[in-house]
Amino acid sequence: MPILPILTYPDPRLKRIAEPVTDFGPDLAALLGDLAETMAAGPGGVGIAAPQVDRCVRICLVDCSKSRRPCVNHGLLELINPEIVEWSGMEVGREGCMSLPDFTANVVRATEVVCQYQDREGNEQVAHAEGFEARALQHELDHLEGTLFIDRVVSKKRDVFPRKRYR
Ligand SMILES: [Zn+2]
Repeated sequence: MPILPILTYPDPRLKRIAEPVTDFGPDLAALLGDLAETMAAGPGGVGIAAPQVDRCVRICLVDCSKSRRPCVNHGLLELINPEIVEWSGMEVGREGCMSLPDFTANVVRATEVVCQYQDREGNEQVAHAEGFEARALQHELDHLEGTLFIDRVVSKKRDVFPRKRYR
């Protein structure tokens, strides 16, 4: 399973809206494996979305179990055709992204979300996430709409920071 190259801002391919997954066969399993490996190889990799590796499909992975900040989490979530169906709370927090390796930013996110998605077999699933995992999930789902965290900051002057170190 190869580690895939990550597209970086301002690559216009990051701005595309991803297509739904309809084929739950071996190609999907292979892509999920590659995404997991690429996420694990990245600095601070708690999530990855398929458009970041130039695959314009509605797939993202979130894994907060190895986060620097301990948090309630589901371990590895393989989210196919995910959709957030409930939001609650609101909180500002710092985010980074493998596609914007030189910056972090303060971004407002819901503190709790409910996400409907399909697993790798195509079965419907529901995940309830909170705190840092909810943030990671919202960040990764944004990639499927061509939205980057930089698009969500209130003030590019005050809320974006050069990154000093990873993790
Ligand atoms: Zn990202």
